[in-house]
Amino acid sequence: MSALDLAPEAHCAPGPLLTVDLAAVGANTRLFAARTGAAVMAVVKADGFGHGAVDLARTALANGATSLGVTSIEEALPLRAAGLCVPILSWLNPVDADLAAAVAADVDLAVPGRDHLEAVARAGGPAHIPHIHLHLDTGMARDGAAPSAWPGLCRAARRAEQQGLVRVVGIMGHLGCADDPADPCNATGRTRFAWGLETARAAGLRPGQRHLAATAATLTDPRSHHTVVRIGAGLVGIDPSGTTRLRPALTLTAPLVSVRRVRAGTTVGYSHTWTAPATTHLGLVPLGYADGLPRAASGRAHVLVRGLRRPVVGRISMDQVVVDLGGEVAVGETVTVFGPGDAGEPTVAEWAGWAGTIEHEIVTGIGPRVHRRLRAAPLRSLP
Ligand SMILES: *Cc1c(COP(=O)(O)O)cnc(C)c1O
Repeated sequence: MSALDLAPEAHCAPGPLLTVDLAAVGANTRLFAARTGAAVMAVVKADGFGHGAVDLARTALANGATSLGVTSIEEALPLRAAGLCVPILSWLNPVDADLAAAVAADVDLAVPGRDHLEAVARAGGPAHIPHIHLHLDTGMARDGAAPSAWPGLCRAARRAEQQGLVRVVGIMGHLGCADDPADPCNATGRTRFAWGLETARAAGLRPGQRHLAATAATLTDPRSHHTVVRIGAGLVGIDPSGTTRLRPALTLTAPLVSVRRVRAGTTVGYSHTWTAPATTHLGLVPLGYADGLPRAASGRAHVLVRGLRRPVVGRISMDQVVVDLGGEVAVGETVTVFGPGDAGEPTVAEWAGWAGTIEHEIVTGIGPRVHRRLRAAPLRSLP
């Protein structure tokens, strides 16, 4: 894609715009590749954390990642269809998902238990031996096999491997508290994973891909790296551990669609939660909670207008918000809702704070009405 051609606003729709800075993604990916001796799996689930799965995948692969990870098979198949020929792992599917489609497309599957193992084995054939990653629950009681079921799962997987029904290429776990490196839960998870690897080895398995760490553990704890690290949030500039400066990749803007002068005492929005204390100008921005502005940020959020932070006033509605502009501003002026922060605009991290949530929820929550545009080509040669 010649994304460099896409820069001028003139080519884009005039409404709300989400700009995705793939150069930032490239820089973040290179940082991770430099921080570890393990291979980097780029996690592009949830439409690439809201950045576009294929664009995120291509950019990460051009900058040091060597494989892709997603949640569901439905997320994996479009990556293959887009011509991405690297290993792709899908780790969370119902046992009756279209496993045969995954195997036919050479998508690796995580296996959290015996039922999945049998279903995956049935989905393959001599021409397409399924590649699987056994998934151990390393302490979240969420996905993955419980430790009590692990030795049996390893033995069954080894038998299936000897029968030519599957190939066990990986073993995975996941840490629940890696955003706080001091939490003892990390040591527990590491220990349980090490036990899981030994148990698999004792069963005769020799998987080359052994992976436990996601973004936070990769940045804070080399003992968790093993042979592959799975990086999602970090690619798009989110560091849950708060230890490393990464580059945010999203900028959300919208034009002011109207401006009105109001008198002191004017009440704004649903339930009249804000009253103008003095004469002012109010600007209308055509973005609301259906577009990803969290309603919980009502009364706290700010946006950047002409280089100044202005408060969002009244409740955030489904489709629109009102900004107290102070002085007069022309209709059509661009309002920056969030961005990397370089020009003083709020960041995704600030929006997350205003809404009492994490950055992940903001970036994955941008709605389908917002047009997307790429900034910079997904090439290694870019800064
Ligand atoms: C989302 C996810 C990741 C990526 O985690 P980040 O913290 O976003 O890097 C890794 N592994 C699994 C199993 C996941 O669900």
